[in-house]
Amino acid sequence: MIYILLGPPGAGKGTQGELLSRKIGMPRISTGDILREAVRNKTPLGLKAKETMERGKLVSDDIVIGIVMEKLKSNECARGCILDGFPRNLKQAEALEKFSNSDIKAIYINVPEGEVIKRLTARRICPNCGAVYNMIANPPKEDEKCDTCGEKLIQRDDDREEVIRDRIRVYRQHTEPIIEFYRSRNSLVEVDGSGTIEEVFSRLEELL
Ligand code: AMP
Repeated sequence: MIYILLGPPGAGKGTQGELLSRKIGMPRISTGDILREAVRNKTPLGLKAKETMERGKLVSDDIVIGIVMEKLKSNECARGCILDGFPRNLKQAEALEKFSNSDIKAIYINVPEGEVIKRLTARRICPNCGAVYNMIANPPKEDEKCDTCGEKLIQRDDDREEVIRDRIRVYRQHTEPIIEFYRSRNSLVEVDGSGTIEEVFSRLEELL
C-alpha cells in the first residue's frame, strides 16, 4: 500500500505522516526533506533545486519523479510507504500510477488558508535532526533549542511570509487538482486538519 499525504503547505502532513509511520511501521518519504538535505550537502541535485525551493516553486518533475521511483524500488519501501509532498501535480500523480502496482490511498488533510499561514510563520525546524516545532502550538521545552539534540532551531527559508503566499498559490494551481484525481478513483479520504496534533491523528486513525 502507498499512502499519499495531500493538503496545503502547513496542513501537518509531515507531523501526521511521522505519527502514521510509527503506528503502521512504514517509512515516511518526504521529497521536501530529501531535497533540503541535498541543498544542505551542496550535492549536484541540491545545487539545481536550491533557488527553485527558496522561491516556493516546484522542482522539475523529472527530478522528483526520479527520486521517488528510486525510493519505491528500494528495500525500505518493500511493504509500502507514506509519501509526503509527492505527487504535487497531475503529471507526478500519473507517473506514480504508471510505475507502481501498489494500491494507493490518498489522505487529504483539510485546513483553512488563514490557519495555514499562522502555522507556517510559527514553524521552526532543527537543522541538525530535522525535528519540527511550532512556536505557538508545539514549542520546544527550552527557548529556541531542539528538545532532542539541543541544536538552535531555525526558520525554513521558504517559511517567510512572502514565499508562503507563493507556495499556497502553487498549491492551488498545481496540487489541488490531484485531490479530484484520487477522489474520482475512490482512493481519497478527507480529514479535518484543524485542532491539536493528537486530535487530527485520532481522526485519521478512525478513518483508516
Ligand atoms: P515541502 O517540504 O513538501 O513543503 O517541500 C519544500 C519544497 O521542495 C517545495 O516548495 C518544492 O520547491 C520542493 N518540492 C518538494 N516536493 C516536490 C514535488 N513533489 N515536486 C516538485 N517540487 C517539490
